[in-house]
Amino acid sequence: MDQRPETNETRRMPVLFIGHGSPMNAIEDNEWSRGFRRLATLLPKPKAILSISAHWYVPGTYLTGDAHPKTIHDFGGFPDELFEMEYPAPGDVALANRVAGLLDGERASLTTRWGLDHGTWTVLHQLRPDADCPVVQLSIDADISPAEHLAIGRKLVPLRDEGILIMGSGNIVHNLGYAMTSDRLGNVSTPPWAARFDEAVGGAIERRDGDALVRMIDTEDGRMSHPTLDHYLPLLYAVGAAGAAANRGDRAGNGGAVSFPITGFDMGSLSMRAALFDAA
Ligand code: ZN
Repeated sequence: MDQRPETNETRRMPVLFIGHGSPMNAIEDNEWSRGFRRLATLLPKPKAILSISAHWYVPGTYLTGDAHPKTIHDFGGFPDELFEMEYPAPGDVALANRVAGLLDGERASLTTRWGLDHGTWTVLHQLRPDADCPVVQLSIDADISPAEHLAIGRKLVPLRDEGILIMGSGNIVHNLGYAMTSDRLGNVSTPPWAARFDEAVGGAIERRDGDALVRMIDTEDGRMSHPTLDHYLPLLYAVGAAGAAANRGDRAGNGGAVSFPITGFDMGSLSMRAALFDAA
């Protein structure tokens, strides 16, 4: 039985950051895929979803401008079953244009050269298996600083009052080199730097302190946790869109609760922590 509340476009949408981990979470029944399914019950049905995936990390800010975005199988070495999967959610060209308008200063533009990559669809396959919400992806500009990514996230706040679910998809700790030292069952201990960074990031998320998150990536633990920035940056979009933990009652900053519906590590150094920023 579907317990999810139906769309209420006047209601402010929560913001989600999800640790997507392995593409296998789309087809396996495991701790993480079950976590995604449980998380789905916490989310209202949005009018559309704006996804910021670690896997669209390119020079420039783009939005998927297709009415029917293709499913991109941007991985290798996985079973045919995964390559054959499609996530047939419609696009939303009007939303893509709306976001480009909000990001005026970024010279954001629409493109049909991308679609829904695995950072988006392997998760949405579990969150919304019927693919019944339009989905737009926003690229992560590889040429700008973490602070500038946070600033873009902050510009997305108005979408939450328009029924749009903003979803950042990456991993709070993502060191694949270390993860590959695990045995065939994926067993390996979590190194201290990974546990420390995951914990510290969790604290900054609870404070909705985007500026601290920008600083933390430039620490020793941050560099160990992210040999490249792609899987960290989607978090800055989510925290930016969640707004500051303001106490002055302004609309951009609100005091909604933050929860971590999923925590823990896969393969030792992939933090699977998800953060849900509820609307106030
Ligand atoms: Zn990934």
